[in-house]
Amino acid sequence: MATRACGIDCSVCRLNLLGECSTCGSGKSIEGAKKRAAQERLLGSPCPVLACAMDRDIAYCPRDCDEFPCGHFREGPYPFSHAYLNMQERRRQAPPPSLSPLGQQVTVPETYWQDLANSDLTDICKRAQATRHSSGTVILPFFNTSLLIDADKQEGYLELDGQWRLMDHPLSVLMAVVYLLNVCDQCIAGPMVGVQELKCAHFFQGPHKLKTESVLSRYGNDSKGLVLAAERLGGEPLGLADVSYKFQVFPKVPVYYLLWEGNEEFSANLAVLFDRSIESHLAADSIWGIVNLVSDLLVLGQGITPLLARG
Ligand code: SF4
Ligand code: SF4
Repeated sequence: MATRACGIDCSVCRLNLLGECSTCGSGKSIEGAKKRAAQERLLGSPCPVLACAMDRDIAYCPRDCDEFPCGHFREGPYPFSHAYLNMQERRRQAPPPSLSPLGQQVTVPETYWQDLANSDLTDICKRAQATRHSSGTVILPFFNTSLLIDADKQEGYLELDGQWRLMDHPLSVLMAVVYLLNVCDQCIAGPMVGVQELKCAHFFQGPHKLKTESVLSRYGNDSKGLVLAAERLGGEPLGLADVSYKFQVFPKVPVYYLLWEGNEEFSANLAVLFDRSIESHLAADSIWGIVNLVSDLLVLGQGITPLLARG
């Protein structure tokens, strides 16, 4: 693999093509170990980024390490400028994107808020396994915490450390409002089904393909990293595949992620499964949105907190 632990891609470098410079490789690679040994022999000390990544079993700092961009990048002369590192820091602190399959910013339509405000919230709460909080507000279990959906203020709040904190993630709020408006009496049915077994399977193609590649790319060779991310998100281990977790996104919407780690012989594989009843509560585009949300939170690996408004 010609990408260095720091993220520089040596396969597109002319010095590498000419054979004048070999790649450092990832922090988990044989090339990395060889380069580190050569640096210690020839220079007296290794590249601090490569050494740190190897010691922490991190393949690629920008993708795999929660501390990127750390002091090793800020203090050393290579490989990125301070402006670039500042940009990385700023954008990593922002909530994950809330985009439609066509890349447009998602919002909760005004009509959805009005429909919710004009509904019998007591009746909705019974079906949704939620709690009526006060006039116009509902408390809805969400992963390992709760959402407070305020139909009058048209806002969503997340419970963190016993406090309601404003959310800055329209996709999550939209999914919650859609769930409240559409959830029916049917309870969780039992059998887990793949996307191909859903009646709306034909929807999940092209731009509507479920967002799983990012999770596979991040954790395909790092099952320990997936365990950590899943636990932070309140996932419940299932004991299937190499790593598997159930995420209770909403009370009647569990989503299951199963990972088979890659090795020299086989590529890593990821399956996302649903309860058979999911289509009773959510349309195909909402199922797409739920998987998008879970996958982004797993890649970020910080639990639910990335959904909060900053400042
Ligand atoms: S100079 Fe060497 S280490 Fe740097 S990108 Fe080129 S091949 Fe890779
Ligand atoms: S602490 Fe820094 S150098 Fe070490 S693995 Fe993380 S990002 Fe890379």
